[in-house]
Amino acid sequence: MPELPEVETVRRSLSGLVGQRLRKVELPDGRLRYRATAAQFKGAVAQQLTGIRRLGKYLLLDFGDFPVLFHLGMTGRLLLTSPGASAYTKVVFRFSQATLCFVDVRRFAFVLAGNKALAALPAGVDALGVQNREALIQKMTQSSAPIKSILLNQKIIAGIGNIYAAEMLFAAGIDPHRRGKRLTAAEAARLITACEKVLRRAIDKKGSSISDFVYSLPGEREYSTGAYQKEFLVYNRAGEPCKNCGAQIQKTVLGGRSTFFCNVCQK
Ligand SMILES: [Zn+2]
Repeated sequence: MPELPEVETVRRSLSGLVGQRLRKVELPDGRLRYRATAAQFKGAVAQQLTGIRRLGKYLLLDFGDFPVLFHLGMTGRLLLTSPGASAYTKVVFRFSQATLCFVDVRRFAFVLAGNKALAALPAGVDALGVQNREALIQKMTQSSAPIKSILLNQKIIAGIGNIYAAEMLFAAGIDPHRRGKRLTAAEAARLITACEKVLRRAIDKKGSSISDFVYSLPGEREYSTGAYQKEFLVYNRAGEPCKNCGAQIQKTVLGGRSTFFCNVCQK
């Protein structure tokens, strides 16, 4: 599932669309998590794309004050390729000088527009834009949930999913099962720093492509993949030696999700 670094990679790959006018929207197949309709894009058609923002795992295309919001779900893709390229193309955005295709094999992705777009935005602070660290430390250390579940809670901090939560907790040396309220303020601060460090490195590597994640660049015939999966220290490494201490990486299930950690390095 695309997390913050993958969505940020997509945002950057689409920056060439900014300034272009949206000529029309076509719907070869509007079946997504929420059915897409031509009517919802009325406020964007004939308007100029003025900016592309990312909030958590959401991508927001601004047409003046009319927003169009994308969530990639599990397998959603926003590609600058011809719509004939995929049988799973759901929505095609024809800009003045480029075509943007919203493609999804599994239909968990969605696109919303106008007020519905704004209503869907995550409540939590963006994991890469933490201004008020004290407030976030307080929220983390007041919760009785396991710290890993706190990292995944988009109402507290937005953008982190199962992969990066594992890597961040390893980087901070914190056991994913520990309750938030059992963390000291110093540990929570260390975790926030680790979050930023892991996310920035992953963005440098254009995200992780372990199953489906791809992005496309202007003029590219096919698409590109990210490379951060080559740097995973714990995620998907159960039974393999910890790269720090040599102990076997453990795998448990926490909150219904696979959880990877080193029980020597993470306390
Ligand atoms: Zn270790």
